[in-house]
Amino acid sequence: MAAVSFQSVKKAYGKVEVLHGVSFDITDGEFVVLVGPSGCGKSTLLRMLAGLEEISGGQIVIDGKVVNDLESKDRDIAMVFQSYALYPHMTVRDNMGFSLKLRKADARLTAERVNQAAKILNLDALLDRYPRELSGGQRQRVAMGRAIVRDPKVFLFDEPLSNLDAKLRVAMRAEIKALHQRLKTTTVYVTHDQIEAMTMADRIVVMHDGIIEQIGTPLELFDRPGNLFVAQFIGSPAMNVIGGTLVQDAAGQAVSALGARWPVPAPLDQPAGTAVHYGIRPSDMVLAEQGIPAKVVVVEPTGAETELLLQVGDTPMTLVMHGRTTARPDDTVYLAIDSAKAHVFDGASGRRLS
Ligand code: ADP
Ligand code: MG
Repeated sequence: MAAVSFQSVKKAYGKVEVLHGVSFDITDGEFVVLVGPSGCGKSTLLRMLAGLEEISGGQIVIDGKVVNDLESKDRDIAMVFQSYALYPHMTVRDNMGFSLKLRKADARLTAERVNQAAKILNLDALLDRYPRELSGGQRQRVAMGRAIVRDPKVFLFDEPLSNLDAKLRVAMRAEIKALHQRLKTTTVYVTHDQIEAMTMADRIVVMHDGIIEQIGTPLELFDRPGNLFVAQFIGSPAMNVIGGTLVQDAAGQAVSALGARWPVPAPLDQPAGTAVHYGIRPSDMVLAEQGIPAKVVVVEPTGAETELLLQVGDTPMTLVMHGRTTARPDDTVYLAIDSAKAHVFDGASGRRLS
């Protein structure tokens, strides 16, 4: 196990800089998820930690030691890829033991470690099969087993579930998390899927265009996104965001937008007239007797919950409610806002104001 530290880490391919100085620390035993849209630099950062990619600036520290010039094989980390990268001509047993064999480990120790990992991952019965005789989920588990067998200081995962169907992805998500709770090995996990990030991470690092937008626990990011990018990236369905202006009236401060008055959580320092983005999550609005009028466009019952696609003026908004509704398309409904749950961002910079 080990702590990991990224200190002003930069990466350039030729003249193009793709990581612009990334700094954050991972504590020993932590499960950190790097999340962000495709192309934001997640894999590059992970590959630099793994030693598969040169570091253009700054430094990476593993277990108190700068590893910039350390070869990949000497960093004591294990990486699991999206493509599994199993050896097709080797059995599960040999695939899992291969890295130890390369290091000329004792055969008995290798067998012991492989058996132990197989037990943890429920692969006992499959040890003599070849990769082609396994399902996608089983192959993914073998790839994880190969990493476990090495007992590394740090596990790295790069979108390991992207090739699996939706149901299996949910199951494997839980397996990886359970595995971490059992082994407590420091883990860095890359995904573009914010649900995966929310459900698995101790802490999430949100990346965008080669920088870090915000770092926090899943619920910190959900409850208090630091800027508009994080607000719209984290949470599903996405937060409703509308452009408006801060106003001060007899009832206090509010945001005027789409011809309505939207309540703010607590008085803001900014003067009336400030241009803002007003954000409210679909689950933080309810249908009420009175409030902000909206037109129902689509009703989507999912059983326990109902999702309503609405229009306020011409602007689409989403509302999610527990249970069911009698509302029908073209009905006019009224929205009540949980003001404590509203978010206000600066109109120009997108920075959180509330
Ligand atoms: P992510 O994993 O977040 O989707 P990557 O780390 O793969 O993003 O890529 C980050 C950026 O670096 C992208 O703009 C990508 O095109 C660029 N990039 C990645 N690898 C190379 C390479 N070998 N040569 C040039 N550009 C690259
Ligand atoms: Mg990637």
